Amino acid sequence: MNRPLHNVLVVEDETAIADTVLYALRSEGYGARHCLLGGQALEALRQHPFDVVVLDVGLPDMSGFEVCRSLRTFSEVPVIFLTARNDEFDRVLGLELGADDYMAKPFSPRELVARVRARLRRSATAAEPAGWQQHGRFAIDREGRRIRFDDHPLDLTRYEYALMAALLQRPGAILSRAQLMDRGWDSAADSADRTVDTHVKTLRAKLRAAGAEPDPIRTHRGLGYALEV
Ligand code: CA
Repeated sequence: MNRPLHNVLVVEDETAIADTVLYALRSEGYGARHCLLGGQALEALRQHPFDVVVLDVGLPDMSGFEVCRSLRTFSEVPVIFLTARNDEFDRVLGLELGADDYMAKPFSPRELVARVRARLRRSATAAEPAGWQQHGRFAIDREGRRIRFDDHPLDLTRYEYALMAALLQRPGAILSRAQLMDRGWDSAADSADRTVDTHVKTLRAKLRAAGAEPDPIRTHRGLGYALEV
């Protein structure tokens, strides 16, 4: 079987509803995964890219709105809310949270699939200009091997770029010197005379010149470095 082109996460605690939705999505060729709880859904969304999330507002562990609020701290994936029959959907709150659409129960699974398809079409046309990914005040173009701070392009050596690119992969995470070398240095010979610390020092000077204060590169004594974006 071919791998589905698009994956949808369905977050719904009523298994009968979830089953119908999963069936409808799969029979249209979508990949569909199911979570019963909001916490599980956030975990799944942190680990796998999904193209659309179908999110019940009334979940046992947290509300769909809370799930969406947490989700927006790390992902812009389109969200379609499902609401209980008699609940007035808080449209303003939904929009503020970046929900793209909602459906009141009971709904037709075919209608839901049509909405999912419409979302995917819209995401495809609104695709970001290729290249730049924003992380806080930093932006990185991995194909072009370029990094900007605010709107200042940073003029980086190959090693400085490699260090920043590694740190920007997981902002806030502490990377040891060995991990940084693994990612940035092609061979052990390279690393012998070019220590991570030396490059971090020159990087810091360039960041300071670009207006990055306080220093976004944190030293964690005995552990390594982390980047605050
Ligand atoms: Ca529910």
